[in-house]
Amino acid sequence: MSRLLVIGCGGVAQVAIQKCCQNSKTFTELCIASRTVSKCDALKDKIEKSGSSVKITTKAVNADDVNELVALIKEYQPDAVLNVALPYQDLTIMDACLECKVDYIDTANYEPEDTDEPVWRAAYEKRCKEKGFTAYFDYSYQWAYMDKFKEAGITGLLGTGFDPGVTSVFVAYAKKHYFDEIHTVDILDCNGGDHGYAFATNFNPEINLREVSANGSYWEDGHWVETKPMEIKREYNFPEVGDKDMYLLHHEEIEALGRNFPEIKRIRFFMTFGQSYLDHMRCLENVGMLSTTPIKFEGKDIVPIQFLKALLPDPASLGPRTVGKTNIGCIFRGVKDGKEKTIYIYNVCDHQECYKELGSQAISYTTGVPAMIGTALVVSGQWKKPGVYTTDEFDPDPYMEMLNEYGLPWVVDENPVLVP
Ligand code: NDP
Repeated sequence: MSRLLVIGCGGVAQVAIQKCCQNSKTFTELCIASRTVSKCDALKDKIEKSGSSVKITTKAVNADDVNELVALIKEYQPDAVLNVALPYQDLTIMDACLECKVDYIDTANYEPEDTDEPVWRAAYEKRCKEKGFTAYFDYSYQWAYMDKFKEAGITGLLGTGFDPGVTSVFVAYAKKHYFDEIHTVDILDCNGGDHGYAFATNFNPEINLREVSANGSYWEDGHWVETKPMEIKREYNFPEVGDKDMYLLHHEEIEALGRNFPEIKRIRFFMTFGQSYLDHMRCLENVGMLSTTPIKFEGKDIVPIQFLKALLPDPASLGPRTVGKTNIGCIFRGVKDGKEKTIYIYNVCDHQECYKELGSQAISYTTGVPAMIGTALVVSGQWKKPGVYTTDEFDPDPYMEMLNEYGLPWVVDENPVLVP
């Protein structure tokens, strides 16, 4: 029995909310609050027509404004707040949760909208030098809430999407059930789906393109090794998808796993991309369309990447067009009882099956289901622990069971092909 406030009503939120309604033994009342309230109302209508017993209300909110968020939380009195807006809003929503002493859950770590803001920029440049990676996002801003959340007696669950989220739970599960020591982890994110457009992104274009056009990096022997964007390429034959080219990227779960599992000697993250996606991205980058720095156009300030977002297909609209499967998982090497061991834990998800079930494509689905699962474990008390934590810091077993129950079944292959 719980009341949940969900902030955001985009591709991921729509899945997370519909999955909360499937889990009506845990979630009895939901408030969907976002910038464009018409999207919240449309989803409420759809869910009510499906006959769900969950009581839904909607509200417009500007999640950049802490006071507005505090007023909304005080009015609705939720047991927890699920942030499935954008990473730009992580800190304002955490501040509001802290003030109201309510648990906080999200799917992506903080990054600022304006990367030229001088105070943030100075801290960023210091961090690049000290830590050795140049991604705009890192956990330091949210980990800084640890003591404040502990004192308030509230839980902050960070990054409960698929990657990060499920991939980090796979690490905790492998460690608990298969290894005495894990030595290497390769996280492989393969989208074998085809939406038929020459170029589109599967989740928020601004966040996606920022991530993919940045330098790559991996964790080795206790430090970061940084690469040029797309410098490291491998081929892999993915179960149920086939041969794909994949490229090494920086990814946020590596930071948390490197800190929480110091025994792991190397952690890498690879994502598959087709040639058309890469060609378009390079071209857009070369002409300045990926820039986050505002330019003057006909007397108005516009941010090139936000203008590009307005031109690209809405990720939530890709559902009916996308065919094929995703395969996301982790390959582990380590030792058990003195013997070398390798395993691969992965999930395969079919775009059209997701569309049939919830009207969404598999990228939103594979993120929204774990968002619901993480939230359910916090509100049910199983993952309640005052402070701020990533998903690898809890007992993985109930989460793994719920993945099977709520549409993301996983496989353990004890004889996988390794990535060179
Ligand atoms: P969308 O752009 O589809 O949705 C974002 C939603 O947030 C929209 O409803 C938007 O409103 C709302 N929003 C944005 N700014 C504000 C604001 N200031 N106040 C209130 N609402 C706001 O994004 P996605 O659904 O694709 O992604 C959601 C989150 O999931 C992101 O943080 C993304 O990084 C994360 N993600 C995590 C993954 C993982 O595996 N861990 C994978 C994929 C995504 P409006 O409708 O008005 O635009």
